[in-house]
Amino acid sequence: MLTGKVALVTGAGRGIGREIALTLAQYGADVIVNYNGSKEKAEEVTAEIRAMGRIAEAVQCSVADYEACGRMITDMLAAFGHIDILVNNAGITKDNLMIKMSEEDFDAVIDTNLKGTFNTMKHLYRPLIKQKSGRIINLSSVSGVLGNAGQANYAASKAGVIGLTKSMARELASRNITVNAVAPGYIDTDMTHAMTDSAKEATLAQIPLKRVGTPRDIAETVAFLASDKASYITGQVISVDGGMAI
Ligand code: NDP
Repeated sequence: MLTGKVALVTGAGRGIGREIALTLAQYGADVIVNYNGSKEKAEEVTAEIRAMGRIAEAVQCSVADYEACGRMITDMLAAFGHIDILVNNAGITKDNLMIKMSEEDFDAVIDTNLKGTFNTMKHLYRPLIKQKSGRIINLSSVSGVLGNAGQANYAASKAGVIGLTKSMARELASRNITVNAVAPGYIDTDMTHAMTDSAKEATLAQIPLKRVGTPRDIAETVAFLASDKASYITGQVISVDGGMAI
């Protein structure tokens, strides 16, 4: 399904990003495994992908660093020749009610989740246009769709990702490049392991399908959007949340 394609997945050393990288490789893609702090985990992911017979490279870069994103994309284009699929998965939370939220925690979440998505798209924009094909998939969140008490910074960043996605979809459609967002609900990763037991129970009670989602639930949707099967879908926000945002 993705044979011959090269995918860049940000934050791919662990969690949802890891599963996306492995799933895209299972469908035939070569994968650039971006990480920020999780070097060993990212190298494990590349080893798993290479064992499938694909090409994989781990590359350190904070997506919040504009210049570093430029260097990563220049280096990876030189190494792989082309990048066809960009998955902006890297993300952080720094939850608090607004009354307790520091300016630093607001800025950090916006810088990684929203500006980070801009940074990679900005540097890949020209190469994708020249190529006249491509897929961009950005990770939003149910919090960005519905809002969430205690997550003003995170929800704002993820709502921003939706605006960025729709605008880029309009800009790039004439070049045969699709841009979509996936909005996960409550997925079993380190990010949600940090929640209190009462917060986990309260979230579970809001899920019509009555189960926590898996990274694979998200990865399969990303793989579909990255494939030719989704060539007529652009500018959309696909909720993968067990019905939370109905
Ligand atoms: P995790 O906390 O498990 O993993 C976060 C990932 O993001 C890590 O791979 C981390 O890399 C990477 N990352 C963080 N900051 C940076 C940075 N500055 N530069 C590059 N990579 C960075 O999160 P999830 O896997 O759960 O989340 C993945 C995405 O899905 C995020 O965008 C998140 O907001 C979104 N999402 C998750 C939900 C959930 O329930 N889990 C729900 C809705 C959305 P490293 O370890 O190398 O630092």
